[in-house]
Amino acid sequence: MISPIRAKKSLGQNFLKDPHYLRKIVDAAAVGPVDRILEIGPGMGHLTRILSERAQKVLALELDDRLIPYLQQEFGEKENVEIRHVDALEYPYSSLPGGWKVVANLPYYISTPLIQRLLQDRSRFTTLTLMLQKEVAERIAAGPGGKEYGYLSVLVQLYSEPRIEFSVPAGAFTPRPEVDSAVITLVLRDHPALANRDHNFLIRLVKAAFSQRRKTLRNALKQLEIPASKMGAAFAETGVDLGRRAETLTVEEFAKLADFLFS
Ligand code: SAM
Repeated sequence: MISPIRAKKSLGQNFLKDPHYLRKIVDAAAVGPVDRILEIGPGMGHLTRILSERAQKVLALELDDRLIPYLQQEFGEKENVEIRHVDALEYPYSSLPGGWKVVANLPYYISTPLIQRLLQDRSRFTTLTLMLQKEVAERIAAGPGGKEYGYLSVLVQLYSEPRIEFSVPAGAFTPRPEVDSAVITLVLRDHPALANRDHNFLIRLVKAAFSQRRKTLRNALKQLEIPASKMGAAFAETGVDLGRRAETLTVEEFAKLADFLFS
């Protein structure tokens, strides 16, 4: 028996052992016998164990080399669990067949880049059920009009419908994190409602709009160097007034504006 390891703060290691919350995460993801689960950061395998009891298959990606022998010993007997020693930001998700559910108590230091990475390969996944810093979960689910609504909200909502499931108190983790936590499910859209022609341009536009969120769109978008004639015609063509500020635009309005300004 390999003894449990000392948690490394630099790897975002806040282990969740409380069976009540572990079950709630697996219930929120509605894990059943036909499901294939991608777990990011299995840690000491507490969530992995429940997932492996309910799902058809669990593929778990762990970066900490100290944990690999521990996990291999824990799950050596379980044919439906595969442990990979890899950085989840580098994993080639596009090599997976479609239909996976992601379930993870994420290391918070990579949550935003990882969500962006997973959304790039969104055709491989049906849902993402993620433990996040509560503030990040709230930003993701926020609608237009408030200070929480920003780049991450628009990016995630373009491709999924977010649903905040429940909060988890710091005391449920070992060691206790310094921030509040919440579980969120992102249900990937089958056909993103928004058929925008150029994803990269849309991302640049949303980033530019929120980079100076107190300015009007007309001013904030200057950095994109769009011809004045295009900017001048935007309202007539899209119905989006460039005298507005980024935080007032819906996801659909961003997509419409990007489509027009790019063409
Ligand atoms: N799932 C476990 C639990 O609930 O107790 C552990 C969760 S802990 C918050 C995050 C886990 O992600 C740790 O095991 C950490 O080593 C791992 N991790 C950190 N960075 C990672 C990365 N880039 N790729 C894969 N795993 C990573």
